[in-house]
Amino acid sequence: MRGFVQRYAPLDVVAQWDDDAYYPAEFFQRFAEHGYMALPFSTVYGGDGAGAVEMAIIGEELGRHGLDIAAGFGLTVFMAMNIERHGSEEQKRYFLPRVFSGETRFAISMTEPDAGSDAAAIRLTATPKGSGYVLNGQKMFTTGAGIPNTVLHVTAVTDSGAPKRSNMSVILVPNDAQGVEIRRLRTVGRHILGTYEVFYDNVYVDSDQVLGELDQGWSVLHSSLELERLFSCAAMVGAAQQVQKMTTDYVTERQQFGRPIGTFQAVSHQIADMHCAVESARLLTYDAARSMDQESTDTFRKAAVAKLVASEALQNATNTGMQLMGGYGYMLEFQMQRFWREARIITVTAGTSEIQRSIIARELGLGAPSRVPQPEKSPMPSRPTPTIPPGGGMPSQEHRVDDNKEART
Ligand SMILES: Cc1cc2nc3c(=O)[nH]c(=O)nc-3n(C[C@H](O)[C@H](O)[C@H](O)COP(=O)(O)OP(=O)(O)OC[C@H]3O[C@@H](n4cnc5c(N)ncnc54)[C@H](O)[C@@H]3O)c2cc1C
Repeated sequence: MRGFVQRYAPLDVVAQWDDDAYYPAEFFQRFAEHGYMALPFSTVYGGDGAGAVEMAIIGEELGRHGLDIAAGFGLTVFMAMNIERHGSEEQKRYFLPRVFSGETRFAISMTEPDAGSDAAAIRLTATPKGSGYVLNGQKMFTTGAGIPNTVLHVTAVTDSGAPKRSNMSVILVPNDAQGVEIRRLRTVGRHILGTYEVFYDNVYVDSDQVLGELDQGWSVLHSSLELERLFSCAAMVGAAQQVQKMTTDYVTERQQFGRPIGTFQAVSHQIADMHCAVESARLLTYDAARSMDQESTDTFRKAAVAKLVASEALQNATNTGMQLMGGYGYMLEFQMQRFWREARIITVTAGTSEIQRSIIARELGLGAPSRVPQPEKSPMPSRPTPTIPPGGGMPSQEHRVDDNKEART
């Protein structure tokens, strides 16, 4: 994988793609040609049955050259895994070979203008009509939505009377379907895939475009969440190692006051701290990946810890890198600013750092406030109505997944 990235996506070439906001279809096609698109799928459908550790290795190597190229691979693969898990036999037979050959890409259209961290608060509706549904509404920040041959995984309210999370379905909508309008947003980074707002105006879909059970979209979309999160953690770790290397090379070469700046203790200690954070993130990521391969019940917590630590390690590393490169770091000719721009958003996407901390706290038994309606306050002190769920207050698997508000990107 390292050879593949060095050969087909060298650092300066990726920087050029980013500068030009160019989507390199020919590079992404090579994943298919080398068989990488099929890696984590069952052999029944022509896959290789790769596990989380193998996927983390891919993420780490891609991330060394940029988070955007890692996402370009991961988005399609992990959405296709949802099809493998929840799709009808026809959907699997139709989509999986097209994903493996590079013909079809996927994007996640979940976030809306008023539904970000609270991703279940969506309003886009799918109203029954004939043998299908009509979609109306708007999505925000759909990465890769404008790339040709992309099928959007759209979350839509299919039962407006049901409570949040049990009211939505995932619907597969080609990005060139009639009534879909896509507008590219101007972003600080991630120029290769692009981030879009998408308008759905009376978009008709057939009922066989619903992925998984009707009204179960929340769990369908979240079923590959942990693996996807680990993959992106690994990409962040790869990027952070690259930033550490670039910073170390720079401070070794750059001379001020007659000596390399890396020989000043104030500088070298910053790199030592960077190294500790990056190495910790790497170990946490691979530990979580091993835990997933062993189907350990601890994986959910470990994946949230890895996401929090890896995203903050990379963001801090790029800040340090920019600082230690002085004025040169700010110049577009240098790679550091691209990593810095890409890193700025990673504590927001795939569940913000605040949300990761909430998940971790909940996993440690520091439960979120109950959604059970509380009794009205009585003037006399009384015993509170018990709100402890069965299981002694520890969240059950179902409760835990239900409570999970992160958006995936
Ligand atoms: C470049 C980019 C690419 C993206 N790609 C995709 C994509 O492909 N598909 C997709 O569906 N979405 C995508 N997103 C959306 C992304 O997942 C959301 O931006 C993210 O979930 C946060 O939502 P928000 O921006 O509305 O922020 P908000 O949810 O409004 O959060 C604002 C702040 O409030 C804090 N906050 C909110 N709720 C809580 C809470 N309960 N406790 C503590 N703090 C809280 C947040 O942590 C954050 O700091 C992308 C976003 C960007 C910028």
